[in-house]
Amino acid sequence: MNPFFNIDPQIETAAAKAQTLCRDQFSEIEAITEYNQFKVQHAFVEHGISDTHFATSTGYGYGDRGRETLDKVWAQVFGAEDALVRHNFVCGTHTLTVALFGVLRPGDAMLCVTGTPYDTIHGVIGISGSGMGSLKDFGVRYSEVPLRNDKPDLPAIEAAVQDDTTMVYIQRSRGYELRPSLTVEEIGEIVRTVKAKNPNVIVMVDNCYGEFVQRQEPTEVGADLIAGSLIKNAGGGIATTGGYIAGRHDLVEKCAYRLTTPGLGKEVGATLGMNRELYMGLFYAPHTVGEALKSAVFIAALFARFGYDTTPRYNAVRGDIVQSLGLENEESLVAFCQGIQSGSPIDSYLLPEPWDMPGYDSKVVMAAGAFTLGSSIELSADAPIREPFYAWIQGGLNYHSAKLCVMLAAQKMLEKGLLKNHE
Ligand SMILES: *Cc1c(COP(=O)(O)O)cnc(C)c1O
Repeated sequence: MNPFFNIDPQIETAAAKAQTLCRDQFSEIEAITEYNQFKVQHAFVEHGISDTHFATSTGYGYGDRGRETLDKVWAQVFGAEDALVRHNFVCGTHTLTVALFGVLRPGDAMLCVTGTPYDTIHGVIGISGSGMGSLKDFGVRYSEVPLRNDKPDLPAIEAAVQDDTTMVYIQRSRGYELRPSLTVEEIGEIVRTVKAKNPNVIVMVDNCYGEFVQRQEPTEVGADLIAGSLIKNAGGGIATTGGYIAGRHDLVEKCAYRLTTPGLGKEVGATLGMNRELYMGLFYAPHTVGEALKSAVFIAALFARFGYDTTPRYNAVRGDIVQSLGLENEESLVAFCQGIQSGSPIDSYLLPEPWDMPGYDSKVVMAAGAFTLGSSIELSADAPIREPFYAWIQGGLNYHSAKLCVMLAAQKMLEKGLLKNHE
């Protein structure tokens, strides 16, 4: 049915049916994309963005108007008092680290209310490792409230918040778990519960993979501080590195003192010609996130047809762009990732194999064929080779490109005799 790639007619047919099944989800995603695009463009118009904002700076970067205005545009889009958007954040974990060290002080208490956070944050908090200068090494206390039936446990959260609780920490995305992501509404409920018990608590949200998935952001429902990566949703597939923090003015200022130095804060930082791509990334972000969401919904619909467990289901409400697929065995995980890689615009000729990745207790197989290395707003899949044999998939710069890769993944499974209920 297409003259370019060898895809079995059974898979083409299943894909067409899956796509039809997604119609309502696609129109809801498009409505959210449109709302968020208007929101972003309104901020650009109000701040009169012009090519002068793309001018580069070197050295100290004093008075870089493009950098200063980007923070204001970002703050407006996220419904926040202030923002800190910098290419100098080397990844999402670094951004979250700056935010945590920016606002927490020795003796403070941090309470994570969405179970144990994302793996890379463990060393930052001091859940694992020692002597690296974690929050724990600096005398910041840590505790957590587990999820209950995969949802925030509001009564337990209320009980855990004390007079001396400094920060409540929320992870919006599922990360590499099978629990659902939190919706912005659920984050709002947590904020209300926490603030009713102790209004002084700083509520911070790890917003990675969540930006522009819904009409509102956590900062619009009372979160004091949010942070995320620019090689995920908020960089729109355009930003090649960086991160952002947004929230209350006094807290963002403290984060700036941590990123640079006490006293200098936001006043310095050469932008080295990065402003244009950060503006353009924000401009594209609502659309790119919409494409990634459509890709996730399509993957869920197609693989549900083939008889696999999909979480979230194609028609579930989503708070992030991550899709998990239960592929049931090692051979299927490997074939799936190899199929995804084979259609990627970059590095299509590589053959993913399971390997012993540092920091993991099992082998991991990954597919990534991206313009920006490690970007996961571009289509990527990874799977630890262990029970229950799930793959985690995210991104898709455009739906058609992701659809192709997913069909090739099914094709690879079919060729190896692994694909279940094909028609
Ligand atoms: C990606 C991610 C991070 C940060 O990861 P980096 O790889 O350092 O960018 C943190 N939390 C969650 C939930 C994430 O998805």
